[in-house]
Amino acid sequence: MTKKALVTGITGQDGAYLTKFLLDKGYAVYGAFRRSAVLNLNGLKYLGVDDKVSYLPLELLEFTNIYRAIEKIQPDEIYNFGAQSFVALSFEEPIFTADVTALGPLRVLEAIRAVKPETKFYQASSSEMFGKVQAIPQNEKTPFYPRSPYAASKLFAHWITVNYRESYGIFACSGILFNHESPLRGLEFITRKVTDGIARIKNRLQEKIVLGNLDSKRDWGYAQEYVEAMWLMLQQDKPDDYVIASGETHSVREFVELACKMAGFDVVWQGKDIDEKGIDKKTGQTLIEVSPEFFRPADVDILLGDYSKAKGKLGWQPKTRFEDLVKIMVEADIQRIKDLRK
Ligand code: NDP
Ligand code: GDP
Repeated sequence: MTKKALVTGITGQDGAYLTKFLLDKGYAVYGAFRRSAVLNLNGLKYLGVDDKVSYLPLELLEFTNIYRAIEKIQPDEIYNFGAQSFVALSFEEPIFTADVTALGPLRVLEAIRAVKPETKFYQASSSEMFGKVQAIPQNEKTPFYPRSPYAASKLFAHWITVNYRESYGIFACSGILFNHESPLRGLEFITRKVTDGIARIKNRLQEKIVLGNLDSKRDWGYAQEYVEAMWLMLQQDKPDDYVIASGETHSVREFVELACKMAGFDVVWQGKDIDEKGIDKKTGQTLIEVSPEFFRPADVDILLGDYSKAKGKLGWQPKTRFEDLVKIMVEADIQRIKDLRK
């Protein structure tokens, strides 16, 4: 029998990559989107799978809507990606963020419990939960210390997932994923903001990129290979929680330097703090500026994941290294901007 997967947040980065992965495995994919004026299928189109999905509107703020969707589809697996996922915005919209990102998964779990308790559930948890890190590197046993309304919301969602597993025997897994990026990453996140910006500068569509904290460090991996780990979690004999990471950490500054280099710029830094600038050595052009606008009330200084449990139990490990990831993203944005100009 064809397995049925319900994916919330189908219009996001991970929604697209997981859909492609599940279709290749022979699944029927039900893609849940929140209704808006224009349904954005760009990610799914980019991967050539937009016409292979059964779409349904699903609002994570609305319990009855989720309940009816599960009743109608009777899914074997649910992947919950829907979230207000941008940390910076969560400081501006903390209550909305908690409603969607913390209570949304609880609504899904309640609906599973009421309608089809044998449904397997994947919760998209985040390394942001480690926040002010209590150990380096971070693994499944590292204490959490969230530093934003987003991270606190994800932490609630993580624990409620564990709680529904332990209380009601639901096959519920929490994947604690470190930052994962791709050409489909939202433009507001640092990696895409930089690769898109560099591609625009190269094509004279933009003069410079204005950023915030250049010194925070992240464990950046490639989204395309992280979705396999999510699926593997739901195929085990027992539900559990896993850290998925690249095992490398790099600063925003390093990301910028490498992205610039791959686009043919040679960035050198001048000045300090908010007066710091990234200048192209050859032309003297200012490529990067810093503005207080992009600093957060509290930031996460360093994330570095230890994926050894996933390697041992799921047989999963990352393949794409940092340099290759930056290359994939810079080349894709340069190509995209070129195509736009045709
Ligand atoms: P995106 O921001 O690309 O996608 C989020 C999705 O959630 C979008 O499809 C969005 O829809 C949808 N959504 C937002 N609000 C609601 C709502 N009220 N009801 C229903 N759907 C809603 O995230 P990613 O694909 O990058 O990440 C997937 C999940 O993994 C997210 O939960 C994220 O927080 C989490 N995560 C991501 C990491 C990463 O590095 N990418 C790291 C760790 C965790 P719309 O298109 O309408 O905005
Ligand atoms: P996050 O780890 O989920 O918050 O992912 P982001 O890509 O949004 O941010 C990663 C890091 O880059 C954070 O420490 C940010 O403070 C830092 N950063 C510096 N400048 C910027 C910027 O202009 N935009 C974003 N999104 N992040 C920035």
